[in-house]
Amino acid sequence: MSPGPERALADELRATLGAARAWLAEWLEEGGEASLAPAAAPAVQGPPPPRRTTGLVPRSEAQPGEARSVGDLFALARSGPRPTLEEVRARLGDCRRCPLCEGRSRIVFGDGNPDADLLFVGEGPGAEEDKRGLPFVGRAGELLTRMIERGLEIPRSEVYICNIVKCRPPGNREPAPHEVASCRPFLDQQIDAVAPRVIVALGRPATSVLLGRDVSITRVRGVWHEYRGIPVMPTFHPAFILRQYTEENRRLVWQDLRAALARARAEG
Ligand code: URA
Repeated sequence: MSPGPERALADELRATLGAARAWLAEWLEEGGEASLAPAAAPAVQGPPPPRRTTGLVPRSEAQPGEARSVGDLFALARSGPRPTLEEVRARLGDCRRCPLCEGRSRIVFGDGNPDADLLFVGEGPGAEEDKRGLPFVGRAGELLTRMIERGLEIPRSEVYICNIVKCRPPGNREPAPHEVASCRPFLDQQIDAVAPRVIVALGRPATSVLLGRDVSITRVRGVWHEYRGIPVMPTFHPAFILRQYTEENRRLVWQDLRAALARARAEG
């Protein structure tokens, strides 16, 4: 059954609220009112700031519904206890909220450790992902898997991987804003459910969604940002690396991923 107009409107309002929250979190993180000064402060470069003492329950001791990260506090403030990924998947259902449902074979929800420290966000499923119902299992996915397993030396199953849209855009085009907005509540809920220590944003579209503004990936990659209290490391999309397989590009992604893992471990 297709959702009624009220449901679509509610989803859109939720997406807008999510974007406003993301903007506010980033604004506060970057100095709040200070950033209104004529020369806006640049985003923080270099090593991560020292761990904040927020009075959070240590991750290893957190019970369901308790905050173990600043992202959890946002989630708890919004909706009580964190949802589980199963609950989020059930809410998504046989989604027909946007036109991408027309051309998909399978919904590509996400894959990996529901309790991951590192969460990767890509753009949207490609042909192979659409066929198999799993994110990042095509050529770009093989490269991402190699970067995680050989580069970071952790099993892919230890991280969580999802996309800003869960259905394949026709011809692998970039998802349109209304398609991203329809899927946004589910991305947010996935992030709430996993409560990662660090998010890695793969490529410009994913980074723009998480930062709440259109970005140039070459300008923001390698620079720490935040999404609802969770550190975000933007980096190049593996499909871009496949197209421009230069030593320099590989070095930069490698540097970003290592920084992401180090920060996830430092936040532990
Ligand atoms: N596969 C995915 O799942 N996401 C992308 O962004 C690209 C390939």
